[in-house]
Amino acid sequence: MTEISASHQVLLERYRASHIGVFGLPGLVLARGDGAYVWDVDGNRYLDLLGGIAVNALGHGHPELVGAISKQAAELVHVSNFFTTPAQIEAAEAVLRIAQAPQGSGVFFCNSGSEAVETAIKLSRRTGRTGIVAVGGAFHGRTTGAVSLTHKEAYRAPFEPLLPGVLHVAPGDVEALRAAVGPDTAMVLLEPIQGEAGVVAPPVGYLAAAREITRDAGALLVLDEIQTGIGRTGAWFAHQLEGVVPDAITIAKGLGGGVPIGGLVTFGPEVTGLLTAGQHGSTFGGNPLACSAALAVLATIESEGLLEHAVAAGDFLVDRVEALAHPLVTGVRGAGLLRAITLAQPIAPAVARLARSHGFIVNPVAADALRLAPPLVITTDQLATFVDALPAILDEAVKESA
Ligand code: PMP
Repeated sequence: MTEISASHQVLLERYRASHIGVFGLPGLVLARGDGAYVWDVDGNRYLDLLGGIAVNALGHGHPELVGAISKQAAELVHVSNFFTTPAQIEAAEAVLRIAQAPQGSGVFFCNSGSEAVETAIKLSRRTGRTGIVAVGGAFHGRTTGAVSLTHKEAYRAPFEPLLPGVLHVAPGDVEALRAAVGPDTAMVLLEPIQGEAGVVAPPVGYLAAAREITRDAGALLVLDEIQTGIGRTGAWFAHQLEGVVPDAITIAKGLGGGVPIGGLVTFGPEVTGLLTAGQHGSTFGGNPLACSAALAVLATIESEGLLEHAVAAGDFLVDRVEALAHPLVTGVRGAGLLRAITLAQPIAPAVARLARSHGFIVNPVAADALRLAPPLVITTDQLATFVDALPAILDEAVKESA
């Protein structure tokens, strides 16, 4: 069992005294990481089954990432957008290649997922239309435009009025989508698997139907791959599993392996041409440090076979959790290494807290669901240590709630 020292508590108190409290009080002060493990300032070790929420694709301290960042930092950390760098050019080419984007496609690099979504909103406005259709449960970020597309009331209500013209329709419902899309719809924005909603995939065929509906209506289909992209589901991008070609995708999270970088990828010359010189920008976007990190992440996913590994490790996790046949576990959903273990009772927050005291970091993404988005390098042996510990943790949580 992990123990939190008095000096650790003092650090958390200093956090509280020095920050705007939007995250509440963090659970731990972390000091270092190695592979799929992190250590807190007391030296307690945790298996990081959350990976910075699907960010630390290569785990912690991967030599390829450390080497690429170190080398780039020594050479050139930043240039203005009056100039470019080999790292930026190569990162854009690499992203277009893994996205299987056709000739004439393009990338705009920014620094976060929300900024990528903001860029998609501005792109969509260039169609001459202003309507946007998203779905219930959607999470697209916290900046003012992006939160307008996020569905959760608690995230929206304090900041209204938000962007006009946004409709949220029932998730996974083709007819609801068809009814909502009309001549003023600039874009339909969808997560291939809804991450923050609890790792919920739409029915097979939904994305293809969305493609057909948007094409017929002359609206853009933009897929938010911020959480699902960069190998998380075992494909480079989750929509590739469905064989759908979108007009654009938003990316971030895993792309830099923890170094902040996001992007909008536009597919084909027509969509790419919607944004022209002077219409958008970002001081840090495309920064050589972040782009070098992205190049190292993409190259290492390829050289270490991490797409195949994400599929195999995800299957292993599902098999092992199902084999527990624990009465409290109702299932495992998601794909690759983006998963939720669903529970028969709304005790996920207690389970996550107790898991942490046993040395495992998981996320109670819903009252009855634990999200796992570990580093893609996590081994099946490491996953097995969590599954083996899970029954005792669940039983403890049930006892607590009784
Ligand atoms: N879209 C999706 C699907 C996300 O999961 C997130 C982050 N959870 C965002 C957008 C926002 O990204 P960021 O926090 O980097 O702004």
